[in-house]
Amino acid sequence: MFLCSLWKNPVNEVLLATGNPHKLAEVRAVLGPLGIEVLGLDDLPIVPEEPVEDAATFEGNARLKALAYARDSGRTALADDSGLEVDALGGDPGVRSARWSGVEGTREERDAANNRKLVESMRDVPESARTARFVCAMCLASPDGRVLAETRGTFEGVITVEPRGKNGFGYDQHLHLFEEGRTSAELSPDEKNARSHRGAATRAMAPLLEAMIRD
Ligand code: IMP
Repeated sequence: MFLCSLWKNPVNEVLLATGNPHKLAEVRAVLGPLGIEVLGLDDLPIVPEEPVEDAATFEGNARLKALAYARDSGRTALADDSGLEVDALGGDPGVRSARWSGVEGTREERDAANNRKLVESMRDVPESARTARFVCAMCLASPDGRVLAETRGTFEGVITVEPRGKNGFGYDQHLHLFEEGRTSAELSPDEKNARSHRGAATRAMAPLLEAMIRD
């Protein structure tokens, strides 16, 4: 993790630069008990324009989102860029996870089309070569254009043939987790947060965010 030691902020509030209610709930569940209030984009009086996510890496996209939303909202902003990396697909869908299938529509429609493409792309891949992981890169930025911290978390598993579970979003029904023996969608929200890529990246941010409250 990279930390900027000069940064001080008296406010126990951080903007999470997302309109995804699942991501917001996951980050709030980790930071809320520490006394950190997490605002979503929908909590702002004026929602800043969405920056173009054109970086080649999760880290690059998280950084450009955090910097743009911090500048445009005038608030300390935390941004997450996340996705699924499948080894047999050379790391795809990677940074293109959200819109991999090219189908437009609601979040649920895009998720369903992405999962159909995943199943189809993995049709001939044997069990032993179906390894994959969720990756989450997070960046915390200040309104004056400084990157305050960057963290990363991963969640390792294998891609299932059939969807399993009802919780979560995105590719959760298709990542069978090694340590859990279940898919990500079969975990309760608390179980997912305790182990997930996003939970890990958020917890790694906690020391700096707690210092923000103290100071
Ligand atoms: P982002 O909003 O640009 O970070 O896109 C992330 C995309 O990656 C989502 O739309 C999902 O398809 C996928 N993804 C990220 N995190 C998760 C997760 O925790 N579970 C399932 N899919 C995820």
